[in-house]
This record gives sequence, structure tokens and C-alpha cells, in this order.
Amino acid sequence: MGILLASEERVRPLTEGPITVATLCSHSSLQIFHGVKAEGLPTLGIARGAPPRYYQAFPLACPEEFLSVPTLAEIGTLLPRLKETHSVLVPHGSFVEYLGATEFAALDVPVFGNRNVLAWESDRRKEREWLDGAGVPMPRRYEEIDEVDGPVIVKYYGAKGGKGFVLAKNRLALKDFHPTGPYVIQEYVLGTRYYVHFFYSPLSETGYRVGSGSLELLGMDRRDEANIDELYKLGAQEEILRAGIRPTFVVTGNVPVVLRESLLPQVFDIGARIVERSLELFGGMVGPFCVEGIVTEELEFKVFEISSRIVAGTNLFPSGSAYSDMVAPRLSMGRRIALELKAAQRTGRLREVLS
Ligand code: AMP
Repeated sequence: MGILLASEERVRPLTEGPITVATLCSHSSLQIFHGVKAEGLPTLGIARGAPPRYYQAFPLACPEEFLSVPTLAEIGTLLPRLKETHSVLVPHGSFVEYLGATEFAALDVPVFGNRNVLAWESDRRKEREWLDGAGVPMPRRYEEIDEVDGPVIVKYYGAKGGKGFVLAKNRLALKDFHPTGPYVIQEYVLGTRYYVHFFYSPLSETGYRVGSGSLELLGMDRRDEANIDELYKLGAQEEILRAGIRPTFVVTGNVPVVLRESLLPQVFDIGARIVERSLELFGGMVGPFCVEGIVTEELEFKVFEISSRIVAGTNLFPSGSAYSDMVAPRLSMGRRIALELKAAQRTGRLREVLS
């Protein structure tokens, strides 16, 4: 089964000569450029304003060319040069967030992976439909506050970095909750968080088979989140709230983790189901994605979120991770993207990895 994503017109210029890999200088860009350069492909950094100075400190990750725009809304002015250089855009969290999922999807430049996936990921209802349909275990969802019978987390749609989330240890604690926008009420799962970095290749003919391609596990991290991660030091919730501190989940960094090996069948099954459902719903998810979940003391992996593009946790592994080292030596997510592009170009299958 082939997934046809990109139009003939977008792909034709890329069939000969080297493809340039371009992305916004932020988020996971250093790691992407580092891996792509290691594979010998040209790189291009898109900067808001002047190219970031910290790039000078990382020569192995510095792109050969920078293009600058005052704001990302003006990215359209870069299209001629992006086309001239046969650029393919790699979406990452900041790129999509700063530009907007709809605007990103409308760009007239080839994108690595399926650009339609971004609309499914950025809408909590659509995401739920996707994950529910995939049959993956998720935290229970309450339709009404009256149904709440345990600890919950209330999430506003599109809330970035967990800002404005409300934690309540029971229904009573929600009596003063006055929503300021559309929200969902989720069971607050007690356990340990894991962020699993997958890569789905529609081209690969070996490995863990899913659809007509294969699913690779390239790394895993846990996010450091301010201020929730250290709040326990201040004692009980009521006292914290009385002190006027609201818990937030703002990601400040990442730490590497590995899972108990006996949990790997569960996470591969979850990853495979998510890919299979994406094939049915919107033509498939190609390339990097991240399954974000909590392992309970019953050793059940519950998925609370999915990121359908490269996540910043992959920045931990420019030289490979505990998992990717067993796929290929020194395999980073950036390098994996470059390898897929090269394989697609070599075999005339670019349409299956681009949109
Ligand atoms: P999200 O915006 O859904 O990625 O959530 C941000 C953070 O909130 C996560 O990284 C977790 O620390 C926490 N979180 C989200 N959902 C749950 C849940 N159902 N149970 C416990 N913690 C959660």
C-alpha cells in the first residue's frame, strides 16, 4: 500500500540534485542540521531577525545558508529561494506554533511528512478521535464536573506548555472552577511520565512492520516542567494554593530515560495502532512522532498526548540513544530524516515521504 502525499509539481524539481533540508532556527533545529550535515545534504536555517548568535558555537550544526525574515508571517518572501535551493521543510513544535498549523499546512514548499497531521494534532477533540479510534489506553475523560470521582487535570484547548491547566484532587476542589474557554477534564494519572520518540518509515522493508513500512524506536526522554516538578517541596496542595502559587507545566528541559524492557511490547503496540489509524484517517503519519504517556503502578502505559512531528526531547541524542544505537550506530532523529529523504530520492519514492 503506497501513501501518495505530495503533488507531482512539488516533487518534480527534487528528483535530481541534492535536496536542501530547511527549518526554523529554534526547538530541535541544531540537532536536525547536525544529523542532516552528517549525511552530506545541504542545510538552510530560517531565522526570525538575524541568525541566532549561539549557532556560531556549534560549527557541526551550523547550516550553510541562513534566510531571515522580520516575522514568520513574512515567510512567503522566502519561497523563491526555498524553491531555488530545492528545499524541504522539516516541521517542529516552534515552527508550527509560531506560524500557525493552518498557515504551515498552506505553505507552497514540500514538507517532510504529512502536513495534514498537524491539524489532527493541534485540536484536542480530533486528537482524541484519532487515539480513541486507534484503541490506545488513555486517561479517563469526564464530560461533566459532576461525574468526577478522583483527581483530575483540566486542560484548555490549545494550551501551550500546560499553562492554565487546573489540578484538582477531587470534585469538591473544582467548585470554584470557572472556565475561561473550551476545556477537557481528564483523570489525573498517577505514575511516571515517558516521552517515546518514534519514526515511521513507509519505505523501510525490514524491522517492526506496520502498514507497508516499519516503526522505529529512536529514543525516550522525560520533560522537566516548571513549576510542578518541584512543587512537592512546598508541601500539600491547599497550602500551595493558599500561598498563591498555581501549578504550571512549562517545559524547561529534557532528561534521557529508558523503559523497563518488559514495557516495550506495550509501547510498540501503541505506536503501531496510532500509525495504522493515521493511515485510515488522513493518509498516514510519516517520519518522527512522539507518544507521551504515564506508566502506572499496574504497569499500564496511558497516553495523554501525541506530538506528530519531531520533539525537542530528541535533542538529547545527536550521537544516538540507548535505543537508536541498536538500529544503527550514532543514529539521531535528524540523521534519520536525512536517510529517509536520500532513500526516497534514490528509489523514486519522494511522493511517499513529502507533502
Ligand atoms: P499536555 O499539554 O497534554 O502535553 O500536558 C502537559 C503536562 O501535563 C504533561 O507533560 C504532564 O506532566 C501533565 N499531564 C497531562 N495530562 C496528564 C494526565 N492525564 N495525568 C497526569 N498528568 C498529566
